[in-house]
Amino acid sequence: MSIDSQSPVLVWFRDDHRLSDNPALSAAVASGSRVLCFYVLDEASEGIRPLGGAARWWLHGSLRALGEALERAGSRLVLFRGPALQAVETVVRGTGASAIYWNRRYGAAEIAVDSALKKSLTERGIKAHSFNGRLLNEPWEVANQAGKPFQVFTPYLRAVTARPISTPIPSPERIPGGTWGESILARATSLDALGLEPSSPDWASGIRAAWQCGEQAAQDRLKEFIGAGLKGYAEQRDRPFMDGTSRLSPHLRFGEISPRQVWHAVMGAVAREPGLESDARKYLSEVVWRDFSYQLLDVHPHLPDRSHSPRFEHFPWAGNPETLKAWQRGLTGYPIVDAGMRQLWQTAWMHNRVRMIVASFLVKHLLTDWRQGESWFWDTLVDADPANNAFGWQWVAGSGPDSAPFHRIFNPVTQGEKFDPDGRYVRTYVPELASLPAAFIHKPWEAPPGLLHEKGIRLGETYPAPIVPHGPARARALEAFQSLRDLE
Ligand code: FAD
Repeated sequence: MSIDSQSPVLVWFRDDHRLSDNPALSAAVASGSRVLCFYVLDEASEGIRPLGGAARWWLHGSLRALGEALERAGSRLVLFRGPALQAVETVVRGTGASAIYWNRRYGAAEIAVDSALKKSLTERGIKAHSFNGRLLNEPWEVANQAGKPFQVFTPYLRAVTARPISTPIPSPERIPGGTWGESILARATSLDALGLEPSSPDWASGIRAAWQCGEQAAQDRLKEFIGAGLKGYAEQRDRPFMDGTSRLSPHLRFGEISPRQVWHAVMGAVAREPGLESDARKYLSEVVWRDFSYQLLDVHPHLPDRSHSPRFEHFPWAGNPETLKAWQRGLTGYPIVDAGMRQLWQTAWMHNRVRMIVASFLVKHLLTDWRQGESWFWDTLVDADPANNAFGWQWVAGSGPDSAPFHRIFNPVTQGEKFDPDGRYVRTYVPELASLPAAFIHKPWEAPPGLLHEKGIRLGETYPAPIVPHGPARARALEAFQSLRDLE
């Protein structure tokens, strides 16, 4: 039978916006049929969390790059709006496809959609093939000796390190694209019509300047990081003023690069230059944290909206809208916190060390429910990720599995002095303090009045005075935490 007389097969792209190491795409091409590729923006299925603004911006660029790459390979990307179940059924019927290929998802609502779809298609004799395109290991592949998922990272990491990580698959050389019928194309939409980019106001100019979306940009970034950033990573990853981390997070979030590709590229660099080994080990352990978050999300589907530790559901949160707003805008009066929140607003990304500091400040100094912070990050991060974001917030709050203990309360001044000793990071994002000497950059309220006057800084006017004093805020947080212990 010629390829044209066969029914086509479908590839449904979802957070796997790449051609290389895309097992669903490669398997569809290997089927020998014509391959039709599509994407569904699903903001309507029950339980699916709509993307935040920054992630929507990224998605626009990511879909454009994916569409262009598919066209270069002989195919195209057709876009639809959800709910996914209905949209995919429409595509299957409209194209007469015999099979559909996708890479698996791990959120409870996404799994519900995929399972329902698989069931209904299989009942009609249409094959649904699914693959691991997102993780080094899927949640159920790594278990402790009792066959249960790990709750603690270190043994999880040990177990992962003992397993082989499969080699990435190259991009298909050519995708035998098929013809979409007019009637189904009439139900499709254009990228611009999805309305993912902000227009009035266009708040994305800083983000646009900071990032390039797409598979090629991800590969370039990985190469650049391995060439210039991997050596020294273990130490430099904690220096927010340096470009000391890979910044691959949004690319991984949208599947423009796979963790297997990252893993093998880094291992390849170590094979060429054995001196990189300890930095590489540290770096790859961070990539394994990502898998660990997904494993936790799989086991605890409410990770993004419910404290894992039930006692935290009784926490006496005392945050208020004014302090939340001051935190969101980078106007808390603590320079390292404000620099982080402004880096986030300007570039839609924040350094990991500073994410921990600002999150601790919101939850502990301002006694604000971690979910408020999680939502703000969800809306403003280009890498906003259902597993990593929820896990990061619960880790800092002390409510998650294998979390930092609640009583570890970061002092924003000493954190700033330790990790940004010259104040370069603060000077970049809090320009109103840029002229202060390093001795006062993290505590401008201790600067002599004459110096502040000379530098044109008026606390409470040109830059806020601290919205809460550190010592009493710390004591209040510990007291609130003690009240939880008293419940036990
Ligand atoms: P690198 O240091 O270069 O690390 C490489 C990759 O490893 C990252 O891209 C990421 O995929 C993974 N990784 C690194 N650190 C972690 C970690 N602590 N947990 C899980 N995976 C990690 N990461 C997100 O991808 N999305 C989020 O929404 C997110 N929200 C967070 C919220 C809070 C409160 C905290 C404390 C951390 C959060 N993180 C999140 C984890 C971490 O901050 C980012 O992954 C990292 O800063 C991304 O920068 P990078 O790619 O340069 O990291």
